[in-house]
Amino acid sequence: MGTIDERPAVTQPLNKVWYQGKVAALDMLRLDLLHPVVSGNKWYKLRLNLSYAQDHGFKTIVTFGGGYSNHLVATAFAARQFGLRAVGIVRGHHDVLTPTLQDCKDYGMELLFVSQEDFRNRHQPLWAEQLVAHFDEILIIPEGGANERGRKGAGLIDRFVNRSYTHIAMCVGTGTTLAGLRQQLPEEQHILGFVPMKQTDEQRHYISEHLQGISQYSWSLVPDLRFGGFGKWKDEMLVFMNEFYKDHKIPLDIVYTGKMMYNIKGMLDDNFFSSSDRILCIHSGGLQGNVSVKGGLVY
Ligand SMILES: *Cc1c(COP(=O)(O)O)cnc(C)c1O
Repeated sequence: MGTIDERPAVTQPLNKVWYQGKVAALDMLRLDLLHPVVSGNKWYKLRLNLSYAQDHGFKTIVTFGGGYSNHLVATAFAARQFGLRAVGIVRGHHDVLTPTLQDCKDYGMELLFVSQEDFRNRHQPLWAEQLVAHFDEILIIPEGGANERGRKGAGLIDRFVNRSYTHIAMCVGTGTTLAGLRQQLPEEQHILGFVPMKQTDEQRHYISEHLQGISQYSWSLVPDLRFGGFGKWKDEMLVFMNEFYKDHKIPLDIVYTGKMMYNIKGMLDDNFFSSSDRILCIHSGGLQGNVSVKGGLVY
């Protein structure tokens, strides 16, 4: 039975001055501390997929991602812990590997590069199967771990969430983690999903599809209207992240958690919350992606 050496989850109260005492509690669940490589929500989305592969005699894990994908590097590392071979299908050709892709390779993942255009076929099982036909007994995990086992695994994060919180704030990429956690937590605990892009339709669709029978009022999505799209940022974001680090000794990532905290700050300023609200923000990790802004951060 494979596993990773998972450290205990820590819930850290944020600085009252930072949130101007506008809510009763604002804490952060530090899933970024779970593991130096397989950090945050990625381990939870992978764990049932990997144990399934192991229990059913699969030998090779195939999955997908871009040059800075947290999911890809987490899969590379975790698959190796389970004694499974890993193949990463990468968006775009990289003559020079990004640090993330170099890590994937160092953890034993084989990388197959496909054009941006071909990468769009990744949801078609036949396309992917043909691409990896020369590997043995493969289990395909969709990009971001977005399958039933990924959602179920993510639901296990509920063990770290005290039921006294009125709001759970979390980052949304595919929506897999949100859907999984929404299935486990009581509906009274509202989930606010922060989407690091202008549009939320795709995620809304994915999440609703997998939350049949659960009130649509128990969760909502907040787009990012400030920074111009997925993976996009401005210097203002680096300044914000550096200040947040100075106040809390918590490193945020440039793609997900930085934008979530930036937008939460804006909502506090706009008095979106009531003074009795108790908010838990989930730090879903992703810090390795900060290599893309190396030099701009104090941590
Ligand atoms: C991958 C990732 C997410 C997105 O998770 P989904 O389950 O795809 O919604 C959120 N935060 C961080 C830091 C991530 O790396």
